Amino acid sequence: ERIITSHIRDEDKQIENGLRPKYLESYIGQDKVKEKLKIFIEAATVRGEALDHVLLYGPPGLGKTTLSNIIANEMNVNIRITSGPAIERPGDLAAILTNLSENDVLFIDEIHRLNRSVEEILYPAMEDFALDIIIGKGPSARSIRLDLCKFTLIGATTRAGLLTSPLRDRFGVICKLDLYNTQQLTDIVKRSGNILGVEIVEEAAVEIASRSRGTPRIANRLLKRIRDYAQVRADGKITKTVAKEALILLEIDELGLDAVDKKIIQTMIDNFRGGPVGVDTLAASTAEEKNTIEDVYEPYLLQIGFINRTPRGRIVSEKAYKHFNIPYKKE
Ligand code: ADP
Repeated sequence: ERIITSHIRDEDKQIENGLRPKYLESYIGQDKVKEKLKIFIEAATVRGEALDHVLLYGPPGLGKTTLSNIIANEMNVNIRITSGPAIERPGDLAAILTNLSENDVLFIDEIHRLNRSVEEILYPAMEDFALDIIIGKGPSARSIRLDLCKFTLIGATTRAGLLTSPLRDRFGVICKLDLYNTQQLTDIVKRSGNILGVEIVEEAAVEIASRSRGTPRIANRLLKRIRDYAQVRADGKITKTVAKEALILLEIDELGLDAVDKKIIQTMIDNFRGGPVGVDTLAASTAEEKNTIEDVYEPYLLQIGFINRTPRGRIVSEKAYKHFNIPYKKE
């Protein structure tokens, strides 16, 4: 698996929890989202009510789980964490819902992967804080309504468009998380270095940040790898040289790109003369999943301006040709 995948890897698990900021104040970047949440949290706290349901969407590793924990912390309530695929049957969700206390947060990661019958339980729960239960079978079956404690559902997904509209419509607050810029990632690397107790010079932090594909999870993972390298090959301090050497060893180029990105760009150039090409076609010819291309590879390639989106499909930019040393032919 790729070292620069934005999906969680086993090696991340040992450090991720320790590196999560606990309050909005220490959550770096995403200023618009923070401002919006601050207002809603304050208003709900003053009224002593549960926060409106919140939908967080954006590529993996940008801090959706972290933000949900922060919301619960700031609201001073408990958080229960689960995920769409983990809730298999309606009864599983009913059990979770009936165990929540007043104003608690329920975090459902990958909420677009809930199955239909489970999702239908959520509608009255989100809207009326009620559970509709069918008792009995056949003609004698009847439905009873159970009241639930008021709670806040926080759903996380990669794209809001993956949710059904009845589900999406039930969220009062919808926030999009964007890829981070190099300055923000530099701050995250320095903060994490501090927590991990590793000395890191500013330039090295910038170096790591600029190869982290806009993603804090990747920044933290690279930091951890480079810390190990610094310990073994140097005196433990992460200087710019140490960082560069380690990154060469990890085969990550100056922009944080690897062989998969190169394959995508190369395919677009070789098979489609640089585009426009539709994402379905691109998926078929690179043997990558369409969703992975859209949610993981493409946002970063768009951010660094290697591809552009047009109504007729994706186009490779001149910048990308240059980076990969491919002669650029204008049609
Ligand atoms: P997601 O749920 O979107 O996949 P996570 O919340 O698990 O992402 O974040 C991954 C890692 O990145 C966490 O260890 C967290 O410490 C770090 N992180 C994410 N966002 C921020 C941020 N804004 N400031 C500092 N660290 C962050």
